Amino acid sequence: MSHDFTVTFLGVRGSIPVPGPSTLKIGGNSSCVQIEILNHTFFLDAGTGIISAGKKLVNTFLTSSSDSHKQLFTSILISHTHHDHIMGLPFFAPLFLQQSHISIFGPSIYGPINYPHTDLQYVLNMLMDQMFFPIDLQETPSIKQIISLKPQNQIVFSPQTSIPELVQQNNFNPTSDQIVISQYRNYAHPKNGVLVYKISFNGKTIVYATDLESYISGDQKLIQFSMNADLLIHDSQYTEEQYMKIPSVQGFGHSTAEMACYVAKKANVKQLLLYHHDPNHSDDEIFKKEIKAKELFPHAQAAYEGLILKI
Ligand SMILES: [Zn+2]
Ligand SMILES: [Zn+2]
Repeated sequence: MSHDFTVTFLGVRGSIPVPGPSTLKIGGNSSCVQIEILNHTFFLDAGTGIISAGKKLVNTFLTSSSDSHKQLFTSILISHTHHDHIMGLPFFAPLFLQQSHISIFGPSIYGPINYPHTDLQYVLNMLMDQMFFPIDLQETPSIKQIISLKPQNQIVFSPQTSIPELVQQNNFNPTSDQIVISQYRNYAHPKNGVLVYKISFNGKTIVYATDLESYISGDQKLIQFSMNADLLIHDSQYTEEQYMKIPSVQGFGHSTAEMACYVAKKANVKQLLLYHHDPNHSDDEIFKKEIKAKELFPHAQAAYEGLILKI
């Protein structure tokens, strides 16, 4: 069967990167998934997993063509700006390439009432402010467009252009050759919530739902949003035992693998990838979590670094 999406898991950890002997099989990098459709490459989150992919893209670009007018186009969709989801961005090699064009989408940030700036651009500028990093984001030679998504905004990749455009969901009818990315803000994560993304192309869909905590009887909005998806990538940070026994875990904005399975089943998805693993969990603990999940939802699998899915 032909496939339309190539999905590569580059970082599958939550909270912090955890390199070391107990995480060699699952991997220790923080959240990042690469999606390739047609000639478009984009990333879901920019945790440390994005670093190796950025180097590879730039190396391939520099060795594949001597055409000085050629450009490297990439896009990054940020779920939220907690460290583990953006800490790889300052080390993303395409930032430092003059022929590179990067589109970055993500949430605006609601702060206290007197918060001076609330857009994504401001937060990413802060990430690379001189207090934290030697090179300002705006000093990097690449061309960048940084967009804070509003409710009902959709991102569209068309075959004629390499740069994605923003449209309003209500008055847009995609053509069959366009890739459409929808999003909504889920508030089950402190304090600004998180954007959940759905990527649709050629009748197939992938949903990316990280850093959210499910509810009793499932998160109805997420179930609707994920209905009949080909792939659901869902937060599965905790085991049920952790969730039930450790009081500070409940309300912290993450799900158990069981919660992810419940959503997957209700939404009738074809495949579930357990994602954003607890940094304290060893490979063996994650494999145990996977076995339990398969009993509830046979098409569940623990995401690991280097896993490539063709959909
Ligand atoms: Zn996270
Ligand atoms: Zn988070």
